[in-house]
Amino acid sequence: MLFDCHCHLESPLFDDDIEEVLQRASGNLLGVVCSAVEPKDFEKSLAMHDRMPNFLYVSLGLHPEYAGSISAEDIERAITFIKEKSENIVSIGEVGLDYYWCQDERTRQKQKEMFRRFVDLSMMLDKPLIVHIRRGKDKQSNAYEDAFEILQQGGAKKVLLHMFGYKKLLTRALENGWHVSTNAIVESSKDYKKIVKAIPLDHLMLETDSPYLVPQMLKSRGVKRNEPLFIEQTAKKVALIKETSFEKICSQTTLNARKFFEIG
Ligand SMILES: [Zn+2]
Repeated sequence: MLFDCHCHLESPLFDDDIEEVLQRASGNLLGVVCSAVEPKDFEKSLAMHDRMPNFLYVSLGLHPEYAGSISAEDIERAITFIKEKSENIVSIGEVGLDYYWCQDERTRQKQKEMFRRFVDLSMMLDKPLIVHIRRGKDKQSNAYEDAFEILQQGGAKKVLLHMFGYKKLLTRALENGWHVSTNAIVESSKDYKKIVKAIPLDHLMLETDSPYLVPQMLKSRGVKRNEPLFIEQTAKKVALIKETSFEKICSQTTLNARKFFEIG
């Protein structure tokens, strides 16, 4: 059975039919990690976990795209909340650096400061990190290099590089003992294919990033919203790339996720 290690079921796009989505998912998957990345969604995700404690697991953090608009007080409040709820969550994230939409240096500095706080928090709570990194359109600063430096300085050991697409640093990530997760983007992106090809299977996990990134085959049928059930499409693609069986991909990536998130 597959495990979706990164999705956003707290998204309003699921409000109308979340019960059906969860039913489909729990009938076919072993579990999902729902990442809530802004304070207004924290309680909503934890309530879902309360309803399905052995299937829907929660990760909490602040996405880097909020660094420019969130106040210092709200960051402190979010960190305090996460500390209080640490028993109910499996990880911190997604947190990280996103230089794609953020061009100005001051906001990038704020992203870095916020990211450092969450790396420290994960060490303090002994929880793994789900990390988001996206490169800027400019070539001057490299979000991957900056994020790796912050993670290494913070001593982060349990790291999941979600949707990681930068082959140049894959060896360094593996040397640090970090993991990588891939999603439907592997169907279309050469960079992601190269990463999946190169990574040892015991360091790979699968995710949907639902409601985003609908697999191509379903998109061509008019499906507009991704959901955990569709992770099977990515597992099939990964099996082709790694020239192994679908069953092997299922069992190994699920085992990796259970170990990583310490799910019994
Ligand atoms: Zn995400």
